[in-house]
Amino acid sequence: MSREIVNIQVGQAGNQVGEAFWRMLLAEHGLDDAGMYTGNDPQQIARAGVYFTQVDSDGPSKYVPRSVQVDLESGVCNRLRSGPLGQLFRPDTYFTADSGAGNNWAKGYYTEGAELIDGILDIIRRQTEATEALQGFQIIHSLGGGTGAGLGSLLLSKLREEYPDRMLSTFSVLPAPNVSETVVEPYNSLLSIHQLVDNCDLTICIDNEALYDIAVRTLKIKSPSYKDLNQLISKVMCGVSTSLRFPGQLNGDLRKLGMNLIPFPRLHFLMPSFAPFYDPKARTFQRLSVPELTSSLFDRKNLLVASDPRFGRYLTAACIFRGKVSSHEAENSVAQLQRKNSNLFVEWIPDNVSVSLCSVPPVGQPQAAIALANSTCIQELFKRNLDQFALMFKRRAFLHWYTGEGMDIMEFTEAESNAQDLISEYQQYQEASVEEEEQEVEAEDEQ
Ligand code: GDP
Repeated sequence: MSREIVNIQVGQAGNQVGEAFWRMLLAEHGLDDAGMYTGNDPQQIARAGVYFTQVDSDGPSKYVPRSVQVDLESGVCNRLRSGPLGQLFRPDTYFTADSGAGNNWAKGYYTEGAELIDGILDIIRRQTEATEALQGFQIIHSLGGGTGAGLGSLLLSKLREEYPDRMLSTFSVLPAPNVSETVVEPYNSLLSIHQLVDNCDLTICIDNEALYDIAVRTLKIKSPSYKDLNQLISKVMCGVSTSLRFPGQLNGDLRKLGMNLIPFPRLHFLMPSFAPFYDPKARTFQRLSVPELTSSLFDRKNLLVASDPRFGRYLTAACIFRGKVSSHEAENSVAQLQRKNSNLFVEWIPDNVSVSLCSVPPVGQPQAAIALANSTCIQELFKRNLDQFALMFKRRAFLHWYTGEGMDIMEFTEAESNAQDLISEYQQYQEASVEEEEQEVEAEDEQ
């Protein structure tokens, strides 16, 4: 039996990234654009039930995504409906409106989005009722706009209320100055982080700044489009969900992933990395050795978040090798990397890097490796956001757009201090050593 996940894609980025994700997922499971199985490897389809509902009518089974597509504008979803995946999604799993959120978080969370939330929850409920053992939800959204960020945050808190014992995870696209569309993105994004900290179990951070750099520097794309960036995201999304979707010795689920990667509930912001990224037009394609794949995973050039792991410490990490890789070799090369860079891994969580294998490689590559890391260096990302937020907030710039939707300025102040606290928590664990911990615990015990 597969433990099912319900995917919810919200807003422009959510639906565009979602489309790229589903396309790659189809290819990995041997399904065509209409969800019909055309592959010949039983491993491909054995656990497809995690993301797809198998519908048996008279003919062969059709695999239908367990997904809800939400937007406050209809343009992006209309393109999805009329595009190559037009036959794939159930027509009654779209929820669109024409009000728009105008890149305003308050419209998504308090006004336009809030008015429609019950209808959206009805669609989600229908999806969950059809499952046998729901493991949880994944939301795909951006944090810089109004719909994915504001309405996405509202959805999280409603789901938390209605499904308190299910895992809530997000793939959250963080804004970047070089791919930015509006000046208020730092506001929208920090308000979202404020919500994610408290209402989400597991956030996989995707940073447009890092994607842009990978596209330009490694893939040699002169001016990358969203399509190019989303292609990269989908590789990583498929990568991190491999142990959920394919049979393997670890047979993971979202809770197990969270259990291994998240030592403290608020510090659940994970950095994905992928190797090898390569220029598809380059003539020579070099097959990397397992140690090379491993070191790439821990190299900032392969991270989807623009921060440098050398300035932080890893609390935990999970590595997944895909294709023909021996488990002995994978475990050895990870252990060796950890030994060589022991100062980068906290010593008070023994065995904090897990290794798993999946024999099914990604489509078009003989092998690949993916990691999800919980590193204290992610605080750089929050600092970048907080600095941009604080510059405008000090002068109360653009606030009338938010207060005009009934939002209280206090919420901005709370978001700011929650982000400051988060940064200092990461810093505290970055500096913590085994000895200090022991002293602290003893002091606490004595009290
Ligand atoms: P919404 O529809 O109101 O949720 O707004 P958007 O999703 O357009 O949010 C704007 C933010 O998302 C900005 O930071 C954009 O750079 C980013 N963004 C929009 N579309 C895409 C996309 O297709 N891919 C990626 N990676 N980022 C996007």
